[in-house]
Amino acid sequence: MHHELPELPYDLNALAPHISEETLEYHYGKHHQGYVNNLNKLIAGTEFEAMNLEDIIGKANGVIFNNAAQAWNHAFYWTSLSPNGGGEPGGPLARAIDAAFGSFAEFRKEFTAQAAGLFGSGWVWLVKNRDGSLAIMKGQNAETPLRTGETALLTCDVWEHAYYIDYRNARPRYLEALWEIFDWDFATRNFTG
Ligand code: MN
Repeated sequence: MHHELPELPYDLNALAPHISEETLEYHYGKHHQGYVNNLNKLIAGTEFEAMNLEDIIGKANGVIFNNAAQAWNHAFYWTSLSPNGGGEPGGPLARAIDAAFGSFAEFRKEFTAQAAGLFGSGWVWLVKNRDGSLAIMKGQNAETPLRTGETALLTCDVWEHAYYIDYRNARPRYLEALWEIFDWDFATRNFTG
């Protein structure tokens, strides 16, 4: 099947000033589009050609896995953010965060520390384990919980291309800004779904 760049769920300038329109032009319009384009080229004529994105991620290795997982991870990242985001979750997700981390403040501190400390390029995730408990997962490059079986609730892209235009090398400033736009309604739907 032919894979398409999913539509961004808000305008390119909707996340400013936390993430600028220029960042989204490059990050969504060039980087994410590039992974989708590469994937379509790479799977042509292979066993992966007829599979959906999730099945490719489950079965492929090497460059096909990398481009498929990056396509999926970016789509999930855009929906992890919202111009109406920020604040804290309520309800069952809030209770699960308290159970796993002690409090939302402790969770925020730990998630930020993991994201700041990830060496090189990768992703940090809030996930639900098979037993229903929550955990922070971090992975290098294109690694994704879709491959390892946890349920992704929310993600943070810590590749340099996610923040270099707005914050240059200051990853901690980008991480601070994300807490203003994380979409807890999206995370809650993933948790309870
Ligand atoms: Mn990215």
